[in-house]
Amino acid sequence: MAQTTTLAAPDWSNVKRALVIMAHPDDPDFTCAGTAIAMARQGIEVTYMILTNGDKGNHNPEITRNQLIAMRKIEQRNAAELCGVKQVLFMGVEDGFLRPTRAIRKRVTREIRRIRPELIICPHPDRYLVGDGYINHPDHRNAGLVALEAIFPAADNPMFYPDMADEGYLPHKISQLYVFGHDEPNVELDITADIDLKIQAILCHVTQIPNPEEAPARWKERWATRHEDGGPRYYERFRAMSFT
Ligand SMILES: [Zn+2]
Repeated sequence: MAQTTTLAAPDWSNVKRALVIMAHPDDPDFTCAGTAIAMARQGIEVTYMILTNGDKGNHNPEITRNQLIAMRKIEQRNAAELCGVKQVLFMGVEDGFLRPTRAIRKRVTREIRRIRPELIICPHPDRYLVGDGYINHPDHRNAGLVALEAIFPAADNPMFYPDMADEGYLPHKISQLYVFGHDEPNVELDITADIDLKIQAILCHVTQIPNPEEAPARWKERWATRHEDGGPRYYERFRAMSFT
């Protein structure tokens, strides 16, 4: 029998800093911009970490690879600014080839020890298929793996990367993890009041949205949850874990 999970409202009472670890520029905006907006509004310092350089997200032969990388950084920074997200880190791995290597684990661990977030948001590493018509991008799965393997067992264990202590980056244990794309979410945030701002953030990714006039209406239709009373509502849902 399938396990039933109850959706609860998030508890951020002990969260001062949050780190969103995703594969591509635009992933934070599609997956958790509403959550980032709500956190920033409460005074939580939100950082986006984008693991790849996004250099494959292009169908325009007139734009070079390096131009695209630069454009997508600007787009992601613009979107972050709209959402109140203070910092965006670009880790620069080649788009389409993200793997949970030793090298990227060390770099992500260093950032976790530097930023010291109480809460991290990352994708679900086990999500191979999305619905009936979409194969999940392998970078999304691997971003989940990279994040989880940095969080545990590396970030909070002084035996991993003892040299980082010399840089002042001491072991750090997060207290909450939000996994996006899990089959059994247990936390949901009602982002209805911010759905238009989230869409504005997505539209900052000009190179990725070929039809900005029509897309928002389609997204709002697809993402709506309809209750018996009242209009459509919008949610972001996660599998939340907490650590003590
Ligand atoms: Zn993506």
